[in-house]
Amino acid sequence: MTRVLLVEDEPAIADALVYALQTDRFVVTHALTGNDALLLLGGQAFDFVILDVGLPDMTGFDVCRKLREFSTMPVLFLTARDGEIDRILGLEIGGDDYVTKPFSPREITARVRAILRRGSTMEMKATAPVAAKSLQPLQHDAVAMRIHCHGICLDLTAHEYKLLLVLLENQGRVFTRDQLLEKAWYDPGAVTDRTVDAHIKTVRAKLRHAAAGAEDLIQTRRGLGYVLVMD
Ligand code: CA
Repeated sequence: MTRVLLVEDEPAIADALVYALQTDRFVVTHALTGNDALLLLGGQAFDFVILDVGLPDMTGFDVCRKLREFSTMPVLFLTARDGEIDRILGLEIGGDDYVTKPFSPREITARVRAILRRGSTMEMKATAPVAAKSLQPLQHDAVAMRIHCHGICLDLTAHEYKLLLVLLENQGRVFTRDQLLEKAWYDPGAVTDRTVDAHIKTVRAKLRHAAAGAEDLIQTRRGLGYVLVMD
């Protein structure tokens, strides 16, 4: 007996899913809001959560973040937005999979079964889900224009992003401050090379925040500049 919590505020979608899941012999509880879902998750045992991203009181991502504070149960997101950013965000905060609307209810039950079959979700959750797929500590997602450090999306400003990207795309190459200004700033004349140092400092802090020791990926070459080294 697999107990599924379905969190979906659109009645037509919810009804179709409840029916399909029950037909497939799942025991289904239906919640309409994020708050109701969290109350249910805190009080009852479930094996699986199907989570709409667009809920009336909070996003499905918020629900998942809160759920991950106390549970590793599998989460399947339902999203209306077919965006790469959503997908990555969803997996980063601990989702197991996502399905974009419109979908057929059968597709959902098949996906739930596949995730449950995969099992060992809990062990996988212990390590960062995205990092498991990547060997390099830093990963660039060109579509979303984001850089991930050990699977954690770095919250970078535009200049920090460009600066880190220049270093990342030219690993092992030493850049002077002037070269970095030229490559990462739209108007290099308006800033000084101190600006580069200040940004390197904040980028390192964000790397360290993502993973202890990751700040050492950016090395200082005294009297020369900076280089990113990943091995
Ligand atoms: Ca919705």
